[in-house]
Parts: sequence; C-alpha cells; structure tokens
Amino acid sequence: MNISSEDLHTFSIDALHRIGERSLSKRVEIDWNPRMRSTAGRANLQSNTIEMNPKLQAFGEAEVYTTVLHELAHLIAWSRSRHRGHGADWKKACLDLSIPNEKATHTLPLPSRRQKKKWLYKCSTCKVSIQRVRKIKRKTACVACCKKYNKGRYSNRFLFDEFPLVLDSK
Ligand SMILES: [Zn+2]
Ligand SMILES: [Zn+2]
Repeated sequence: MNISSEDLHTFSIDALHRIGERSLSKRVEIDWNPRMRSTAGRANLQSNTIEMNPKLQAFGEAEVYTTVLHELAHLIAWSRSRHRGHGADWKKACLDLSIPNEKATHTLPLPSRRQKKKWLYKCSTCKVSIQRVRKIKRKTACVACCKKYNKGRYSNRFLFDEFPLVLDSK
C-alpha cells in the first residue's frame, strides 16, 4: 500500500467538507513525517498541520485514515472552542467524523495489541511477572528465585500466582 501526501490531503479536505468545516479545510496541512518513532500521528494546533508516521501504512489503510480523523478531531476541537486533549470537544468532533469509539492514544498499533495476553503470572517473592496467551497447565515456579534461594532446584515456595487479565474490547 502506498498512500501519498496528496491522498492524505484529499481525504482530510473531504472529511472536513462532509461536516461543514469549510474554513478549516482551506487551512489544513498534512504530510508524512519519517522521523516519527512510536507516535502514530500528531496535530499542531497553531499551524493546522498534521504529521503522520509512515510506519502506520504497515497496519493497513483503515488505521491510516482513522488516525487522520483522530488528528483532524484535535484541529476541529481547537478551532471550535480552543480545547486541546481528548476531552468532550474532541469526542464530539470524533462523533461528527464518524469515529465515535476512537481511543485517546497516539501510539502505533503494535502487533502485540492483536494477540492478547490473557494470563498474568507473578512471583510474590521477587515480584517479577510474565504474561501468557494460554493458561500454564503445570505448576510453574520462578526460576530466578529457585536459583537464588534454592540452589536452582524447583520449589513450591516460589510458585507463580495466577491472575486472569481483563481485555479491552478492541
Ligand atoms: Zn489525540
Ligand atoms: Zn521470583
């Protein structure tokens, strides 16, 4: 997939036109910024400029355009009421732009978000914790503590405590 700067710009203008934000649509600038690391998108409220992380393209077209809408919502909230952040005005703008369930985060959708870790194991002695998709069937003890306090032999004293993790809906 190769989304050009031009594509981003056209998409932004169309989205703003659809909800009657004509004056903002004349001022908005948007482009890829290859220097961005883990931030998906960034909106500069003073200059009406949106910077997009090119790495987003690896997550598919929908992620790219949803991020554009997220950032546009920041520009809209600012232009309407001088509000920054992810408060009520931003949420209203997301609703207008048809992304009512948008998250208040700017980080890239990393692959780990797709495969959820479902179980948390914690050592009550050294507090280390590990996460697993599947429940560990056999009893497992903390290797570090067995090493440190039991000459490396398995001991029930260092069994991990098991906790189910709560999953978010996405
Ligand atoms: Zn945001
Ligand atoms: Zn331990």
